[in-house]
Amino acid sequence: EALIRWQHPVHGLLPPSDFIAIAEESGLIIPIGTWVLMQACKIGAELLADGKRISVAANISAKQLKHPEFYATLTDCLAETNFPPSLLELEITESCFLEDLEAVIYLIGKIRHLGVTFALDDFGTGFSSLNYLRQLPVDYLKIDRSFIRELHLDQESRAITSSVISLANELNIKVIAEGVETRDQFDFLRSRQVSFVQGFLFFKPISFDDLKHSYVEIKTVNDENKAE
Ligand code: MN
Repeated sequence: EALIRWQHPVHGLLPPSDFIAIAEESGLIIPIGTWVLMQACKIGAELLADGKRISVAANISAKQLKHPEFYATLTDCLAETNFPPSLLELEITESCFLEDLEAVIYLIGKIRHLGVTFALDDFGTGFSSLNYLRQLPVDYLKIDRSFIRELHLDQESRAITSSVISLANELNIKVIAEGVETRDQFDFLRSRQVSFVQGFLFFKPISFDDLKHSYVEIKTVNDENKAE
């Protein structure tokens, strides 16, 4: 997953939580999002040329997805970098489906037709309507880290996590658990047939340079899982 940071001249390295909300409000999310998408494709293409066939996920905000130029921007990024669409995953949130449901579903279908996959990010923190989940054109569902963090604390988090995984499995949507930090969390998720895991237990976020120049081990669960 491509994660953005801002090297600020005064405040140092800023996490997305410090500036994405402002970028959304000001509309700057559009150029920033385009840049992120281009970088993600560039990075993926460079890794691929290096023999590392790794899928790259980019976070797309609702505003960005619904921008009239989004489809053209996306195809430009893919064409310019020569990155295979099947290795690109777009992470969207439930807020994308709050309005214009039909139009958004149509657009996602058109993009998936290119081979690009979609993940529903932060699942469980929004309105999580089971009604729209029924017609949701996504390949992956990412259970929010807040549920994973509480797994060892309460039966409720374990019940919700297990139920989300089985519901998604029934709907043919693969589940990615994010924020996995302990072996116990991982063992629990694996016992519940989660498809993918992501988190500090496997990797901390690293710079592209480090990723490129270090040996990257892709850890697997049931032969088809990936780690961040
Ligand atoms: Mn994400």
